[in-house]
Amino acid sequence: MKDIERVRNIGIIAHVDHGKTTTSDTLLAAAGIISPKVAGEALALDYLSVEQQRGITVKAANVSLYHEVDGKGYVINLIDTPGHVDFSGRVTRSLRVLDGSIVVVDAVEGVMTQTETVLRQSLEERVRPILFINKIDRLVKELKLGPQEMMQKLLDIIKSVNDLIDMYAEPEFKDKWMVNPTQGTVVFGSAKDKWGFTLPIAQKKGINMKNVIDAYTSSDKNKINELASQVPIHEALLDAVIKFVPNPRDAQKYRIPKIWKGDMDNDLVKSMLNADPNGPIVMMINDMKVDPHAGLVATGRVFSGTLRSGEEVWLVNAKSPQKILQVSIYMGQLRELADEIPAGNIAAVLGLDKARAGETLVDINFKNLQGSFESLHYVSEPVVTIA
Ligand code: GDP
Repeated sequence: MKDIERVRNIGIIAHVDHGKTTTSDTLLAAAGIISPKVAGEALALDYLSVEQQRGITVKAANVSLYHEVDGKGYVINLIDTPGHVDFSGRVTRSLRVLDGSIVVVDAVEGVMTQTETVLRQSLEERVRPILFINKIDRLVKELKLGPQEMMQKLLDIIKSVNDLIDMYAEPEFKDKWMVNPTQGTVVFGSAKDKWGFTLPIAQKKGINMKNVIDAYTSSDKNKINELASQVPIHEALLDAVIKFVPNPRDAQKYRIPKIWKGDMDNDLVKSMLNADPNGPIVMMINDMKVDPHAGLVATGRVFSGTLRSGEEVWLVNAKSPQKILQVSIYMGQLRELADEIPAGNIAAVLGLDKARAGETLVDINFKNLQGSFESLHYVSEPVVTIA
């Protein structure tokens, strides 16, 4: 958490039914195996049994996954984005705390209207997209395509996505952010059957689309499981995220000028540009949830400074001071108390009951500053005057 170069903040976005939920569940299940190493086995199991006993599912605003690449460990914060596109700005609000997005596209349906909407929003927030073409099994089982036709279908999807990136990304990101299978920014797979690969992974492991077709046309159902253990989907997705999504510090350099609304020439903005843990506190809250045990939990991203309990902060939209009672980070689906949470991380905070989702929280010394991540829009009522 202190080594910001090893943190990634991401979300999953998709047209409805293309597999956003299945993909995040699959990642979470994999992290459930991995996280005991980090969080302690007993803790993870206790939590599960408590949840099962009560028969409730606590839908976390954020889960953090642990993944290693080349012997180095990384923390990947997977932030919940709303399941459907609405007009209240909630998708944009969650995108604002991310630096990368996994865009899930159904291999049969291809790019649909909501794919375009969410990809466009991602690019407008300067959140780098990675493409996951899901439900490849359907190309074999339902469309009965051969290797050549399958390749053509997948290339068509990649082209449609790149056409959108070409249309909506700003010039300085366009070329760099176009997805490219050879480079490894496109994952092919099935979230349901838990396998997936990028072309570099496929080459390394000696796998190709013919193996996929064989697995789904074979009478031996084990072939699909073998594929999942050979090329697990979480590995392909998380490898790509670590490699291609920038760390929070690199991302904030170009994201802050785009997402901060207001005064730019002050110490607070300078500190955000460097994700400086020693600067003044700035945090954006993207989610407020009631926890049955803890009460109101604010989840958001620390863009500057270091959060500590007991600190008094200023809520920009609520125009009110408030005291931070407790800060925690996410470990898998659990919240773990932390002494301090430095810039670049996702934090859960207790004590901010005057805040609403979208709130900007700043160091109390900056209460007169003009600026926030999202300002409130007041709809003015028509005034009726009777003469
Ligand atoms: P969301 O609306 O984007 O969250 O989509 P879901 O994850 O709920 O998935 C929608 C439907 O597609 C569900 O019935 C899933 O079981 C199914 N689905 C998800 N992944 C796959 C896949 O890889 N292959 C197939 N055939 N179906 C899938």
